[in-house]
Amino acid sequence: MQIREDLRNIAIIAHVDHGKTTLVDQLLKYSGTFRENEQVDERAMDSNDLEKERGITILAKNTAINYKDTRINILDTPGHADFGGEVERIMKMVDGVLLVVDAYEGCMPQTRFVLKKALEQKLTPVVVLNKIDRPNARPTEVIDEVLDLFIELGADDEQLEFPVVYASALNGTSSNEPDEQEETMEPIFSTILDNIPAPEDNSEDPLQFQVTLLDYNEYLGRVGIGRIFRGSIKVGQQVALMKKDGSVKTFRVTKLFGFIGLKRIEIKEAKAGDIIAIAGLEDINVGETVCPIDHQEAMPIPRIDEPTLQMT
Ligand code: GDP
Repeated sequence: MQIREDLRNIAIIAHVDHGKTTLVDQLLKYSGTFRENEQVDERAMDSNDLEKERGITILAKNTAINYKDTRINILDTPGHADFGGEVERIMKMVDGVLLVVDAYEGCMPQTRFVLKKALEQKLTPVVVLNKIDRPNARPTEVIDEVLDLFIELGADDEQLEFPVVYASALNGTSSNEPDEQEETMEPIFSTILDNIPAPEDNSEDPLQFQVTLLDYNEYLGRVGIGRIFRGSIKVGQQVALMKKDGSVKTFRVTKLFGFIGLKRIEIKEAKAGDIIAIAGLEDINVGETVCPIDHQEAMPIPRIDEPTLQMT
């Protein structure tokens, strides 16, 4: 099997306030992907209100980090149980998870909720025990708690062997040992690269791309975000969209976007394993599959959350 050694797709999961945002910022900074004071373009988040009106939630965001010769896509996951479908779809796009746990607070309800989904999808976990700088941090106990939670949630033998990185995202330090913090994020990057499987490179097979999230752009209309599960795609290509109702629409790919840091950039082509955004068809929806016109094969429809009704 060929693999994309140059790529890793992971989801970052944590209870609120355990430090996801601080950690991702620190990884960006350390990798040099993101230059300080750089203008951050419009993100998928910006169109949130508009899509909410249409009953579509897009709360997840992708941060792409270039570390040495590898691109690491880090997908944020909503921790709230109302977005169970969205969490499941994000988990289908990745091969591993970075579980961030506060070294003082330990496992909390959202830790359990998202970890359960990740373990069910057979994803490879890496645990980051964050806030190790807190004076009352209790790393040994918290790691025991994490292990107990893995066992309780039905982790398999491989998942139970999870590697641990102790970190202070706040101070920009990390280490594979609890009491040897160094001012570097290197241990986090190397633990990700050494443990999380690289995507399969089946880019010679017929294209299959599934829309996991939607974005809306004034100029482009709806943009479908997802992972290319196999094959490759180019701007200008005529493709088929397999609709949820079983019908098929053909359309021309007008634009493709990849991610760098927090920004979305236009690209000309992409292949198996890549997480991209596709523009060209106004009528694109979550769960639908893009494939070649002469090789139509829909992926199973994932769970989609019903929008919460506002009672007035
Ligand atoms: P998120 O909700 O998981 O994205 O958490 P944030 O990254 O926003 O962090 C929540 C709070 O914890 C903020 O006040 C951070 O400054 C703080 N924080 C994050 N990482 C650390 C850390 O390593 N040590 C300490 N002491 N505080 C941290």
